[in-house]
Amino acid sequence: MKATVEQIKGGLWGLIIGDALGVPVEFKPRLYLKQYPVTGMQGKGTYDQPSGTWSDDSSLTLCTVESLLGGFDVNDIGRRFVQWHKKGLWTPYGEVFDIGSTTAQALRQIENGIDPAQAGLNDEWSNGNGSLMRILPLAFILDGLPEGEKFERIRQVSSITHAHKRSVAACYIYVKFVEKLIETSDKQLAYIQMQNEVREFLPSKIGDDEYKHFYRIVEDDISTFPESEIYSSGYVVYTLEAALWSFLTTGRFEDAVLTAVNLGEDTDTTGAITGGLAGTYYGYQAIPDEWINSLARRDDIEQLIERFAEKYGG
Ligand SMILES: [Mg+2]
Repeated sequence: MKATVEQIKGGLWGLIIGDALGVPVEFKPRLYLKQYPVTGMQGKGTYDQPSGTWSDDSSLTLCTVESLLGGFDVNDIGRRFVQWHKKGLWTPYGEVFDIGSTTAQALRQIENGIDPAQAGLNDEWSNGNGSLMRILPLAFILDGLPEGEKFERIRQVSSITHAHKRSVAACYIYVKFVEKLIETSDKQLAYIQMQNEVREFLPSKIGDDEYKHFYRIVEDDISTFPESEIYSSGYVVYTLEAALWSFLTTGRFEDAVLTAVNLGEDTDTTGAITGGLAGTYYGYQAIPDEWINSLARRDDIEQLIERFAEKYGG
């Protein structure tokens, strides 16, 4: 089923909002945020940026969105990532202030002439959340393709920087969940449907040894775990768990993203990934105008998202 314009706009704006809410408190421990919780857009903090500043999560998502306006071309996406890295394409103020180490290494490979499809790191230690944080647009463009082809496209886009099976699987699970959120108005039902489809398809693709890293998400119910067992570091599995947990245990867009950010540590990315889910589910209208209006380059983002939503929305 195609996403509606409202769902696509909600998801993409939601991701950027979650990122921007998290930027000022990135790396803050959970205990600190218990005492000084984030309650809205704020400036200063970790990178000493103005309120409404978003980071690499949004930049690379917007590069992907812009590329997909011309159709699906992994090399083109990779080239835009390099433009971001070298020239500040889709940055708030023309320069990159936040980049993950795996992404930096992979983009240097592309800059040195390696094909984007071969550039991503493939070792077990390269499983940070750097591809998960930018995979959302794929959830809006794969409607109607056979499952194997959907997985393959997600794999290719993740692998520009993160080529290990675990990163690819995390991206696949996230995209499947967004797909189910598009189809149903009951998020618990969407979660169960996602689990059923992932269980059928994923083990044969990545092997049982790898699949077991996703048990808490796919074979259990992550929303029933206490907060003390939800981790919010930059490890891709933990980030996906934290985002699902923040979304499933709350009932409004604002609560979902603020819960995610206030888990601490990798706040901007946990916020972004949660914002993508919550924005798609609750829709664009549910996102406070005040937050959208505070974002750096608000008008540029709006133009891009409108074009994308018109092209892919149903
Ligand atoms: Mg970031």
